[in-house]
Amino acid sequence: MKTKLLKHEAREKIEEFFSRKDFKPEEVRKIKRLAMKFKIELKGKKKLFCKKCLSRLKGKTRVGKSHKTVECGECGYKNRFRTDR
Ligand SMILES: [Zn+2]
Repeated sequence: MKTKLLKHEAREKIEEFFSRKDFKPEEVRKIKRLAMKFKIELKGKKKLFCKKCLSRLKGKTRVGKSHKTVECGECGYKNRFRTDR
């Protein structure tokens, strides 16, 4: 049997993926599946892609008191994130 992907390897893969400048929605889907399989939390990385269309998030950002809203440049979906601290 081929060597199984270990949790730390999966984590490395995820880190590497999100350090990229751009990524495709289907790749995000794969990475999310990988993270789920290994129960790895994406945490701050969730802010890097649109919740709806999974494309790289690079839209208008509005910061509120408790939330930050980033409007997706692709589909226009407003992604809300809790502001850290
Ligand atoms: Zn979107």
